[in-house]
Amino acid sequence: MIRIAIIGYGKIAEDQHVPAIRGNDELELVACVSRRKAAPEGTPAFASIAELRASGIEVDAVALCNTPEDRPATALEAIAAGWHVFLEKPPAATLGAVAEIETAASEAGVTLFASWHSRFAPAVAGARVWLAHRTIASLEIEWREDVRKWHPGQAWIWQPGGFGVFDPGINALSIVTEILPTELTIESAILDTPANRQQPIAAELRFGGRGIPAGARAIFDWRATSAETWAIRIGTDAGPLELVDGGARLRVDDAEVATAGLDEYPGLYTRFADLVRTGASEVDVRPLRLVADAFLRGERRGVEAFED
Ligand code: NAP
Repeated sequence: MIRIAIIGYGKIAEDQHVPAIRGNDELELVACVSRRKAAPEGTPAFASIAELRASGIEVDAVALCNTPEDRPATALEAIAAGWHVFLEKPPAATLGAVAEIETAASEAGVTLFASWHSRFAPAVAGARVWLAHRTIASLEIEWREDVRKWHPGQAWIWQPGGFGVFDPGINALSIVTEILPTELTIESAILDTPANRQQPIAAELRFGGRGIPAGARAIFDWRATSAETWAIRIGTDAGPLELVDGGARLRVDDAEVATAGLDEYPGLYTRFADLVRTGASEVDVRPLRLVADAFLRGERRGVEAFED
């Protein structure tokens, strides 16, 4: 049994982590650390990792569900305590911070899992297998949602290190880096940034890379007011493949392909338990590197101010 504490009890901790941990026979939720001392009913809550350590509750691992900016300090504190670490996506706000956490985990001999939940969507593994030996003829990512619906009142997401529209957009990048048989690079980016915010509300990326056709692109937009679109369309020498609903469904040659397996968060925790049991770690920074490169290459375009 792996005794696990959640650090940062916000939307994703409550909606996904608690049910996934409770549904896994190898895991036991023993505490939450939350500045507001928030926790699910029946779970002890502490305001800091220091308070949790002083409580005497035995902990083997932590799931960091706080903000990317806040995560490195808490990850290093957890690693120093000898705990295995599950990082929500994105693993941190900078590549340097991820490298620092990775080194600390390796030196301490604990498991580090930099999770990408969208890679565990039911149709992603099938898409990867199907694409393994294909030639890519076109690539279009369309990721549109309503920020007011999905990130209500989340001030941190607009601040430096908050990622803006790349917070959902990085989910699409985590899928394409997993399923494409070749690597992507950023050729150019346009970052539409509201006059009163630090982070983009929309972005258009143009991709390059060996075997990546001209015109390959991604559109991320937080201003959708109707239903969300989370789609990846890939043309190949053997016909088109489409992942829809964020990787929940797969269409090949316009026909639906049946998928099987666990949902995203149960799948993530099964992987985490495997990594802990086998003493392994899993850290893939490629989605974060694409975002960093988009910010490095990006042309900033001012757009209308955004109010929550
Ligand atoms: P959230 O509801 O705003 O929760 C974030 C938590 O982080 C807060 O509850 C807070 O926990 C802690 N925190 C630390 N520093 C903070 C600061 N400066 N401002 C505000 N909160 C701070 O966010 P979330 O949607 O759960 O997202 C958390 C992480 O999960 C993000 O990296 C996000 O990309 C990822 N994620 C979110 C979703 C989603 O649909 N929302 C889906 C998948 C992954 P305490 O007050 O308890 O300390």
